[in-house]
Amino acid sequence: MGATLRDGDGKLSLTTRIMIAMVAGLVLGVILNAIGSEFVNTHIVGGLFGMVGRMFVNALQMLVVPLVFFSLICGVAGIGDIRILGRVGGKSFGLYIATTATAIGVAILIALVVGPGNGFVMEGIDTSGVTGKDAPSVWDTFAAIVPRNPVAAFSGGEMLQIIFYTIVLGIAVLMLGERSKPFVEACEYMNELMMKVVQIVMAFAPYGVFCLIAKTFTEQGIGLFIPVMAYVGVLVAALLLHLFVTLMLFLKLLSGLDPFTFMKKIRPAQIFAFSTASSNATIPVTLRCVTERMGVNNSVASFTVPFGATINMDGTAIMQGVATVFLANVYGIDLGLGGYITVIAMAVLASIGTAGVPGVGLVMLTMVLGQVGLPIEGIALILGVDRLMDMIRTAVNITGDAVVSTIVAKTEGQVDMAVYLDPNAGVLTGDDLHIDEAAEHILADAAHKPAE
Ligand code: ASP
Repeated sequence: MGATLRDGDGKLSLTTRIMIAMVAGLVLGVILNAIGSEFVNTHIVGGLFGMVGRMFVNALQMLVVPLVFFSLICGVAGIGDIRILGRVGGKSFGLYIATTATAIGVAILIALVVGPGNGFVMEGIDTSGVTGKDAPSVWDTFAAIVPRNPVAAFSGGEMLQIIFYTIVLGIAVLMLGERSKPFVEACEYMNELMMKVVQIVMAFAPYGVFCLIAKTFTEQGIGLFIPVMAYVGVLVAALLLHLFVTLMLFLKLLSGLDPFTFMKKIRPAQIFAFSTASSNATIPVTLRCVTERMGVNNSVASFTVPFGATINMDGTAIMQGVATVFLANVYGIDLGLGGYITVIAMAVLASIGTAGVPGVGLVMLTMVLGQVGLPIEGIALILGVDRLMDMIRTAVNITGDAVVSTIVAKTEGQVDMAVYLDPNAGVLTGDDLHIDEAAEHILADAAHKPAE
C-alpha cells in the first residue's frame, strides 16, 4: 500500500481510518439486513446511525457556501486578470461538457451492445407514485444563473448563482486595485479559517461514514439487485470504465500528469462522495484534495471545483444513458439514432443547473424519458437500487470535477509539481488539529503583549 497509509509517527492516516469505517459499516449493514431485527433497525440504525450520519452530512454542507465564497474571492483576486479568468471559465466549461457527453455516449454504446432488459418480465413492480418532471428550457436554465437577490442565493445554497455573484464581486475587487487590499487579506484569512473548519469536520469522518454506510446497507440489503442485475452490471461496468479509463485518458493526454498519483490523491473525496451521495456536500473535501494533495493553485480550483460539482455529472449521465436503453428494451421500444442523440443532449443539459444532491439524477431521468416518449413509470424498476448506484455515480461525478480542474490548472501553469509528486503532501491524521499547541501560542503571545 501507499505511503499515505501511516504518517511519520506510525498513526493511521485519516483516509485509511475512513476506509476501515466504510468496510466495517458495509459488513455490519449487510449482517443487520440479514438479521432483520425491527428493534435494532428502528432504534439503532434508523435512530442513532441516522442521526450521526445526518449530523455529518449537515456539517459538510455547512461548510460549502462560506468556503466557496471566500476561496473564490481569493481565487479571482489571485488570478488578477479578467482575461485569464475568462479563459479558465471557457476551458472548464468546454471540458465539463466534453467529458459528460463522452461518458453518456460510451455508456449508451455499451448498453446497446450488452442489451440489459431484453426478455425482462415486468411483474409485481409498484409503479404508483412515480411522477415525471418537465424539461426546463435552455433559456430558463441560463437566465437563472443571475440571482435576483444574492442573499437568497446564499441562504438557499444556489451554487451557480453564488459563483456568478462572487465572480462579479471579485472582478469589482480587482477594479478597485490597492483599495481592495484589506478586503482581500480578510478573505484570505477567512479562507484559511474555513479550511481549518474542514479539517475539524473531517476528523469526525470515520464515525459519520460508518453510520451512513451501515444505515444504507441495513436498509437496502443485496437482495434488491437480483431482479435488475443486468442493469446494475452494465451500469457499474460503464461507471468504472469512465472512472479508470476515459477520465484518466483525458488527464494523461491533456495534462501529461500521472493518473496513478491522481487516483491515489483523490481517494478521500471519492469516499466522501460515495458515503454522502452528494457532490455538493463533497466540495470542501474535493477542494482540499485538489489544492493541498495535488498542488492545484486555489486561483483555478476555487472556481472549477464548485462549478464542476454543480454542472458536471458524468456518472449521472451514464446512469441516465444505461437506464434509457434498459427501459427501452424492457418496453420493447426502439428509440433509433435520433432518440439516443436526444438522450445525450438532454442528459448533458440536465446536469447543468442541477444541484449535486442525493437522488436528483433519478428525478432528471424522468425528464429524459419523457423527452423520448418512454413510460416514466419504468423508473419504479430501478428505484430500489438507485441509492447504491447514486453513491457510485457521485464518486465518478466528483472525480470528473477534479480531473477537469487539474487539466485546466496544468494548462495554465498552475500546478505545483513538487506537491503533486509528494505522496505525503496534505495527508491528514486524526491528530492534525494541533489545538493545544495553537492555543499555547495564542496565550503565550497574549502574555508577551505589553499591558496598555
Ligand atoms: N447524487 C449525485 C451528485 O450529487 C447526483 C445524482 O446523480 O443524483 O452528484
